[in-house]
Amino acid sequence: MTAVEFPILGTEPLAVELANTLYGAGEARIDFLPDARRVGEWFAQVSERHGVAVAMGPHAARVRMLRDCVHALLSAAVEGRVPDAAPVRRVNDFTAAAPTYLRLDWSGGARASRWTSTVTGTVTGPAAVLGSIATCCVELLTGPQADRVRRCQGPGCSLFFVQNHPRRRWCHPSCGHRDRQARYYRRQHTPGAS
Ligand SMILES: [Zn+2]
Repeated sequence: MTAVEFPILGTEPLAVELANTLYGAGEARIDFLPDARRVGEWFAQVSERHGVAVAMGPHAARVRMLRDCVHALLSAAVEGRVPDAAPVRRVNDFTAAAPTYLRLDWSGGARASRWTSTVTGTVTGPAAVLGSIATCCVELLTGPQADRVRRCQGPGCSLFFVQNHPRRRWCHPSCGHRDRQARYYRRQHTPGAS
């Protein structure tokens, strides 16, 4: 069996990777998670990096609901507008099931010189998995990276990414390459252009 091709960038927060399974816009929109099998395959591909060990295929409808909410919120973020109330409310419903909590680790003896807070995930079920992704979305949109969410400027590309370099304009170097090729082509084929 060959691996299914998903628009997984491999560099982004899991919430961004999930939003990117809804690709393009309007008539040309592609849903990379149309059924339970594809949902299961997507989670299998991201599980190694993100530690999701739950079979999510049977919960495809919930996965797509969260995905659509995150997509709507990231779209609002890159467009600099306030999103509809519905995706905000739904994402908060999902985060309520998140298993993440802070743990105090004080192991320096009587005169502990520092406190270490540890985020510990105890992901045991599908609601917890989706809660973690929703939390990831909230952290992204409320944290220091909130104004660095971007949409790729490559030709026909709509993927979201978190800009980790001031000049990064593309989701992936291959999109930058295609973008430069397209500009070069337009220059060569535009009447009057030299
Ligand atoms: Zn791109």
